[in-house]
Amino acid sequence: MPEFDLVIIGGGSGGYACALRSAQLGMSVALIEADKVGGTCLHRGCIPTKALLHAAEIADGAREGARFGVKSTFDGIDMAGVNSYKDGVVSRLYKGLASLVKSRSITYVQGHGQLVSTHTVEVNGEGYTGKNIVLATGSYAKTLPGLEIDGKQIITSDHGTKLDFVPKSVIVLGGGVIGCEFASVWKSFGAEVTIIEGLPHLIASEDESSSKQLERAFRKRGISFELGTFFKSVSKSKKGVEVTLENGKTFKAEILLVSVGRGPVSANLGYEAAGIAMDRGYVLVDEKCRTNVPGIWAVGDLIPTLQLAHVGFAEGILVAEEIAGLNPVAINYDGIPRVTYSDPEVASVGLTTAQAKERGHDVVELTYDLAGNGKAQILNTAGSIKLVGEKDGPILGVHMVGARVGELLAEAELIFNWQARAVDVASLIHAHPTLSEAMGEAHMALAGKALHAHG
Ligand SMILES: Cc1cc2nc3c(=O)[nH]c(=O)nc-3n(C[C@H](O)[C@H](O)[C@H](O)COP(=O)(O)OP(=O)(O)OC[C@H]3O[C@@H](n4cnc5c(N)ncnc54)[C@H](O)[C@@H]3O)c2cc1C
Repeated sequence: MPEFDLVIIGGGSGGYACALRSAQLGMSVALIEADKVGGTCLHRGCIPTKALLHAAEIADGAREGARFGVKSTFDGIDMAGVNSYKDGVVSRLYKGLASLVKSRSITYVQGHGQLVSTHTVEVNGEGYTGKNIVLATGSYAKTLPGLEIDGKQIITSDHGTKLDFVPKSVIVLGGGVIGCEFASVWKSFGAEVTIIEGLPHLIASEDESSSKQLERAFRKRGISFELGTFFKSVSKSKKGVEVTLENGKTFKAEILLVSVGRGPVSANLGYEAAGIAMDRGYVLVDEKCRTNVPGIWAVGDLIPTLQLAHVGFAEGILVAEEIAGLNPVAINYDGIPRVTYSDPEVASVGLTTAQAKERGHDVVELTYDLAGNGKAQILNTAGSIKLVGEKDGPILGVHMVGARVGELLAEAELIFNWQARAVDVASLIHAHPTLSEAMGEAHMALAGKALHAHG
């Protein structure tokens, strides 16, 4: 039976990052993957959706050319062309990743892994023993009771990233990040879109001010939504679907996208039998991603932390370095950057105002309107940068809305994670005219020396 320092089940963001870093640190690694290395993010998540969003941006650019004095018309979407562009991006990244795994001398095992003891994973009838086992089996798109996914009229994001036509109308059930990104794509592609969300706001985990700005922008774009109301039932006919809500309203559309969250892939994999502590299918871990069973670790969407690819990467690397004895610093989950890549984008790091108050901070806030930023005017985008700070202390949160604000997160993340104060950032010079100037201006204003802002 082959024996390794680490046997990893699942080759998505968490699993492959752990494999690459472990191999780099000189450990022997077996990486077991049932489907394709790269997992959800590469094949049906981050990358394909962002390619669709980029195509959507080009469609809007063609529609709006006249506004900038450019003669252009929008003649429609050729989904075969869009998919070929998107699949090309995925396939190039997949080839690169597969060859990276190969080049690091990782033993890549194609097949379905099953934990058969605390140190052994069985794949295709063969056992792979590890001093350490890393569980990285990821997540799946959930649905609701009575809502059967048929992959045609009632779909999840898995199908949404592969659709070969533009639906005339779509109901998006769930106004979280994934729902809002698909709503944004389909609206730009020419569909009528209605989002249904049970919570009082779209992307409800964000600062309320960001949610409200996104809602305003979506309304302006003609994306409809129903908030604070729950799904009751759905019926199908040849023409499409009809959704009834608990408030009695009904909505009809060609297709229904169910984006009500993702659940952990952990059933029937031998986790419980090995004595691993779990909660609602999630594997429970400590701050170093250790489960309660010595030598078994878990990372990524399988554990109850933020379900983001870069969180999986960070957890995978953390585990590799902890096993190698490097004693890495535990992850500060407040400091993880978060982006909704819709039009407009919503990006944040750190605490919302509500969280900061809940934790007892003496909160100061400042909102810098992008209307005062030259580059935002050039791009014709609206939005803002909101700072949440501790009075006479560090910045506790940065919340942004507007075109391309995701790119500003790199700086916001340093500001938050290095516990900078407004006055520290105010003295840094930002290039003109860039959106990043708005970051500088917001901190100048909070430090009491506003330049292109009132007050
Ligand atoms: C539509 C969509 C858009 C997203 N966009 C973003 C984004 O823009 N940015 C971002 O940061 N995150 C995004 N995410 C989230 C991101 O994709 C996940 O957080 C990330 O993929 C989690 O990585 P993981 O390794 O935990 O799991 P996964 O990527 O799900 O990988 C798990 C892997 O394990 C394999 N596996 C499962 N069971 C077994 C078994 N028994 N044996 C062998 N292999 C097994 C699976 O085949 C899979 O490849 C998006 C997700 C979706 C669905």
